[in-house]
Amino acid sequence: MNVPLLDLRPQYASIRDEVLAAVTRVCDSQQFIMGPEVERFESEIASALGLRHAVGVSSGTDAILVALMALDIGPGDEVITPTFSFFATAGCVARVGARPVFVDVDPETLTIDPARVEEAITPRTRAIIPVHLFGACADVDTLGRITSGRNIHVIEDAAQALGATLEGRPAGTLGAIGCFSFFPTKNLGAFGDAGLVTTDDEALARRVRLLRSHGAHPKYHHHEIGGNFRLDALQAAVLRVKLPHLPQWTDRRRENARIYGELFAAAGLTSRVRLPVERSGRTHTYHQYVVRVPNRDAVRAHLASRGIGTEVYYPVPFHRQECFASLGYASDCFPHADAAAAEVLALPIYPGLTRDQQAYVVEAINSFLIHDS
Ligand SMILES: *Cc1c(COP(=O)(O)O)cnc(C)c1O
Repeated sequence: MNVPLLDLRPQYASIRDEVLAAVTRVCDSQQFIMGPEVERFESEIASALGLRHAVGVSSGTDAILVALMALDIGPGDEVITPTFSFFATAGCVARVGARPVFVDVDPETLTIDPARVEEAITPRTRAIIPVHLFGACADVDTLGRITSGRNIHVIEDAAQALGATLEGRPAGTLGAIGCFSFFPTKNLGAFGDAGLVTTDDEALARRVRLLRSHGAHPKYHHHEIGGNFRLDALQAAVLRVKLPHLPQWTDRRRENARIYGELFAAAGLTSRVRLPVERSGRTHTYHQYVVRVPNRDAVRAHLASRGIGTEVYYPVPFHRQECFASLGYASDCFPHADAAAAEVLALPIYPGLTRDQQAYVVEAINSFLIHDS
């Protein structure tokens, strides 16, 4: 049996006609930059999230970058991020000239630990970027209590969490500004790079729109220096086709997670394989289904030999990245992130996965652990 980490082809097959019709519509119009597809996608996703403003941008990375720019964060400022995330979360902070300040993650959820955030705040702190890692919301409510009255913005990195909720409120609506990615492997994936910035703040939304097109309004009159952070009309058209299907695809991921839980329990593995937790009051989108196992690299090699695709998100926390060496973090200062980096393993969880494939994955892990004990 072959179980890839992700197979997008069945999903594409199920919407192929709709997608090709949408792409044809854009090609026939020959309007590739901005225009009605982008505007309609923005209003459709804003209403799906229940907020006032959604601004399509060129990638999830650019969403974070432009959010920082719109909040006037730059040299002399500090921005707190978890040390365990995809690189863009911290890379964008450095790119605007601010200093990324890393903190450790909660050992259970692997999202930023609010207690550590409190200790990291200084008079220079201008923002915190919680990451809804793997599709479960970080503890944004506690961060909100910590930052209230302090002029510190919460910028959500919701790249992995479209459709996740915290006490019924969607990820991307919980802070001052939300950042999403539509990288093809994300739960809502474009056919290339794409992203989104969300906010309920009218002035902030206007600022993001301005920055997205070189700070110009009208054309060739530049109020400030922005960039080319636009969402392609072709990507918007594809995303408009996919958006209505997302709740159903998320349900399938959640169902697959439930099945893994059953299978791991039935195999008696839950003491040796740490399964992802879904805390009460939070809906997990299972962008990734990440377990923790001792001897992770050997487990991974064994699964590969059985035709099972896995991935390590993420092997190197920010405080150990060469490009951040000048920040001067001791290599052992964030033990929970280091432990996670050594143990995490993402298993296949995509919507088209079958129960038989899941049973095969669990059986393969079981056969390795039996021989390893
Ligand atoms: C994917 C991702 C990003 C960046 O998105 P791109 O669209 O690839 O630029 C940022 N943060 C997190 C947590 C991500 O998973």
